[in-house]
Amino acid sequence: MNQVPRGYRAVVTDPAADAGSVLTIDLGAIRENYRRLKARLGGTRCAGVVKADGYGLGADRVARALMQEGCDTFFVAHVGEGIALRAAIGTGPAIYVLNGLPPGSEADAVAAGLTAVLNSAEQLAAWREAAKAAGHSLPAAIQVDSGMSRLGMSPREVEAVAADPEALEGIDLRLVMSHLACADEPGHPANEAQRIEFDRLRAMLPAAPASLANSSGIFLGESYHHQLARPGAALYGINPTPRQENPMLPVIRLQSRVIQTRTVEKGAGIGYGHTATAEGVQRLATISLGYADGWHRCAASAARFDGIELPFVGRVSMDSIILDISALPEGRLRPGDLVDLIDADQTIDDVAGSYGTIAYEVLTSLGHRFHRIHVGA
Ligand SMILES: *Cc1c(COP(=O)(O)O)cnc(C)c1O
Repeated sequence: MNQVPRGYRAVVTDPAADAGSVLTIDLGAIRENYRRLKARLGGTRCAGVVKADGYGLGADRVARALMQEGCDTFFVAHVGEGIALRAAIGTGPAIYVLNGLPPGSEADAVAAGLTAVLNSAEQLAAWREAAKAAGHSLPAAIQVDSGMSRLGMSPREVEAVAADPEALEGIDLRLVMSHLACADEPGHPANEAQRIEFDRLRAMLPAAPASLANSSGIFLGESYHHQLARPGAALYGINPTPRQENPMLPVIRLQSRVIQTRTVEKGAGIGYGHTATAEGVQRLATISLGYADGWHRCAASAARFDGIELPFVGRVSMDSIILDISALPEGRLRPGDLVDLIDADQTIDDVAGSYGTIAYEVLTSLGHRFHRIHVGA
């Protein structure tokens, strides 16, 4: 509980009005994106990747929306994320921990009914010990490194597991998985090389469902689908097929509030460092969004209001950005109004492209300070 000084009450009548910016998350669009991926996958099962709090959009809300579409398998990155998700969605669905279990976290993972992704011989041994201590077998995926050199057992470790009849004692092997390094580049030769290596490595292990494809992997074709796909980004509206039209629906709308408007004369310095100077009489609006909100200092470049583009002027501050609103009729934009930063016209992929990063980074940086509205539940 927040301590409120005597004589005051923490009254919140309109949380959107109290916040600087508003992030609207369309759970209906996430569900439609899941249906689109399922249609493309045919008979292959489709999980939901909800690590990093559902890429910043609320793992619990996203998971519950996907469950309404029949999704029963989720992936998180950390044990802590898995424990929180379990509390939110109940005992039914499987929750896989992609980064594996750090030493000492096994008992908590058992208690929350999490499925370990075993990335190394050490993690396998620790999960075997945990099964012994629990007195029953424990669910696990084995991740093999098919050529990304990030996570997963090396070919040598896989051979050692295959050669040791006791290696999987107490392990209920639910999945063998690997991850593609270049799935968003369909022509990249690493894709086929990884697929072939994945098939070779999993053939050494006991029969279990296999999973290789992330969002972009689903679009590489049926030979990448196996038994389970693991999309994250595409569910959230990020284009899984860069340089082609986005087959997914947009999911988020980011709006920021106008704090103040002003008219400046020719020659006025604008913002930190005076990196901009008014070239004539200029009308400006300052909005309540900045780099502390996850809006990167070098990220785009314009907001929109009434369909009219309002360019940023000068530097992005911690909590504010200055817009040139000279294109709008005088008095049209007033303090309290919301301007659009991300919507169907300026997508997260557009914003990412404007400063040379990927939409994943834009999305996961956003939102911790915003008023979030979930619609379409
Ligand atoms: C993050 C992640 C995914 C989801 O990837 P997207 O590109 O967001 O679809 C799938 N598998 C693993 C191992 C991951 O780390």
